[in-house]
Amino acid sequence: MEDLLRCVQGDITGMEVDAIVNAANNSLLGGGGVDGAIHQAAGPGLLAACRLLGGCPTGEARLTDGYLLPARYVIHTVGPVWQGGGEGEPELLAACYRNSLELAVSRGVASIAFPAISCGVYGYPLEAACILAVGELRAWLSGRPHGLREVRLVAFDARALDAYRRAIEA
Ligand code: ADP
Repeated sequence: MEDLLRCVQGDITGMEVDAIVNAANNSLLGGGGVDGAIHQAAGPGLLAACRLLGGCPTGEARLTDGYLLPARYVIHTVGPVWQGGGEGEPELLAACYRNSLELAVSRGVASIAFPAISCGVYGYPLEAACILAVGELRAWLSGRPHGLREVRLVAFDARALDAYRRAIEA
């Protein structure tokens, strides 16, 4: 199972996996950070597909094609805005990971890459988010048959990579 979960540093938009996860906002109409980068790389077809989805509640996930991306699918999930931790943020972030995996597996995805959901503009503390992501992914993966061969945690910078490494090795 440990072989399945790995962390790398890089730009998620170029990753050759079946599905990449987007840290979107409730509108699903694009934003900054990883969301902006994904829309930029996928081209206008992605925005047109997102418009048809009618938004997404925090903690849930929606799937589109990947358009010009190497990835076949984009799974759009909406992480919580950090408000100090007492507003259900950990539960909502955990739901993002679980719901993204469920959607991926329902489409037969064998490899998936996640960005550090909520760790940019949404302000979730990085260390805590990485520990939660690893714990949630491990629990989900060990709890059912799924067909996944790789779950990649993508760090955009060295600090995030360190945090993922520590969380995986803990
Ligand atoms: P959120 O609004 O959920 O906080 P952000 O896009 O602001 O989303 O940030 C989420 C994480 O994605 C941050 O850790 C940020 O460094 C990272 N990130 C930004 N661009 C990319 C990219 N092209 N590939 C992978 N990760 C990225």
